[in-house]
Amino acid sequence: MKFSEMKYQRPNLQAVTQKYEGITRQFPGCSNAAKQYDLILQHEAMMSHFQSMGTIAYIRNSVDTTDPFYEKEMAFFDANNPAFEDLVQKFYRVVLNSKFRTELEQRTGSLFFQNIEISLRSFSPAVIDLKKRENALVTEYEKLLASAKIELGGKILNLSEIQKDQISPDRQTRKDAWEKTAGFFLDNSQKLDEIYEELVQNRTAQAKILGYKNYVQLGYDRLGRNCYGPEEVKKFRDQVAVDLVPAVAEMKKGQAKRLGLPGLKFYDNNSLFPDGNPAPKGDRQTLVEQAQKMYREMSPFTGEFFDFMVKNELFDLESKKGKAGGGYCTEIPDFESPFIFSNFNGTAGDVEVLTHEAGHAFASYVARKFPLLELRTPTMDAAETHSMSMELFSRRWDPLFFEDETEKFYRYQLENAVGFIPYGCLVDEFQTAMYENPSLTPDERKQTWKNLEKKYRPWIDFDHMPFFENGGGYQRQHHIYSFPLYYIDYCLAQTTALEFWLASEQNWQNAFSRYLAFVKAGGSKTYKELVKASGLSYPMENGCIKRLSDRLSAWFQSHSK
Ligand code: ZN
Repeated sequence: MKFSEMKYQRPNLQAVTQKYEGITRQFPGCSNAAKQYDLILQHEAMMSHFQSMGTIAYIRNSVDTTDPFYEKEMAFFDANNPAFEDLVQKFYRVVLNSKFRTELEQRTGSLFFQNIEISLRSFSPAVIDLKKRENALVTEYEKLLASAKIELGGKILNLSEIQKDQISPDRQTRKDAWEKTAGFFLDNSQKLDEIYEELVQNRTAQAKILGYKNYVQLGYDRLGRNCYGPEEVKKFRDQVAVDLVPAVAEMKKGQAKRLGLPGLKFYDNNSLFPDGNPAPKGDRQTLVEQAQKMYREMSPFTGEFFDFMVKNELFDLESKKGKAGGGYCTEIPDFESPFIFSNFNGTAGDVEVLTHEAGHAFASYVARKFPLLELRTPTMDAAETHSMSMELFSRRWDPLFFEDETEKFYRYQLENAVGFIPYGCLVDEFQTAMYENPSLTPDERKQTWKNLEKKYRPWIDFDHMPFFENGGGYQRQHHIYSFPLYYIDYCLAQTTALEFWLASEQNWQNAFSRYLAFVKAGGSKTYKELVKASGLSYPMENGCIKRLSDRLSAWFQSHSK
């Protein structure tokens, strides 16, 4: 069904509540597992419908933020999501205590129960007020950043508009852009300190109420992490610091050489080429047609998937007036349909939408028939592996998009991918330290960031830019405020995606079929199980990053220009 034909109707919350209360009451008294499983399926249908309506409203609201109808519907979901969540949690509680758990696990798998257990222990009505305050603080932070009006070259820019100038091929322009950006943060430094201070204290208080030592494990639980803890992540970061950072530093030397500079200043770090980044050729229509050709050639599964997306108009790609910013992929379970939203702007990012977001969409299409919604999507580390690997598996078809700039794009893509990992670890180690030591002062927090910069990005020279030089850089990283402890997922996913890419360099077909198996498992396995079943090395285990780093260095050496 075409997206435009999908019928939206506001859920009847009263009816939903009655039904949930009914199945929650009935569940413990069922005389066998089959009857309980039937109630679980009733819950699935209700959750699927509620989510589908919420998602349709969300998409239509972001496609046209001026439409008053969907604005009202979004307000309905914002106001009522917590009540719906509460109904689901109460149902989960009786499921978890099922006297037929062993029999049920034969149908649902044990991970279903393990995931429910994690979600229940990380929440209690006793933290509702703190959670509300936490949400308000996050909104305040996002609003403060969105309010930025930075004057540059006679134009007034916001923080996302200025990004283009931050990577300008003209060095003075990018230096100015970063200086002005730093100026905005410096002006708001005290407010940003205060918001973060209260967020750390708030999250720590929630952890204490729920019986955790500090926020770290609570943060992991809220992300649904089901196969590793902070100790394993530390092992991963240590490998990155020891085995990958020197290779990235070497790569950065090559970048400086390309730019004709003796060394990289902070504002040069994201400028990979003297003449700017590679850009795709052709408009939206052309790019989508090329993507369709690519997915059809890639495999019958990807071809079927992309044809389905095109036929049902499950995209909204171009920027237009009234449309929300950014990009995302989501899914509408009742219609077994993914949906991709973006704002094409003529950069390489447009192709990344058609590979990265389409990688997410492909995974959701593949898992659409799983009877249990809870097992369709894995944890974020694995879900980002779906998308980041697709970006790299599609390298064979990059000439369709980049033509004579293909070689340049190859380098651009890999240098970005590899260069990101140390930065992601910096963000993660910083956040972990903040929640392990919640009583640090704002200056001590900045000092921590500054020290970690030296550990993970020793090649960066801040050129005496006060805000960055003094360790304020963490305040521009949204995730640190808005999505606590979420970020290392990108590093793990990037590592696994690079492993898939290296395997594909040796035997594309074989690597792709392993990737397909990874995707087809949906969320029925943990990230660790998925990686191991694919025959790749697990990032937390010693040696993984060293091997990866050696092979990447060899690639960069053989492609050095
Ligand atoms: Zn993604």
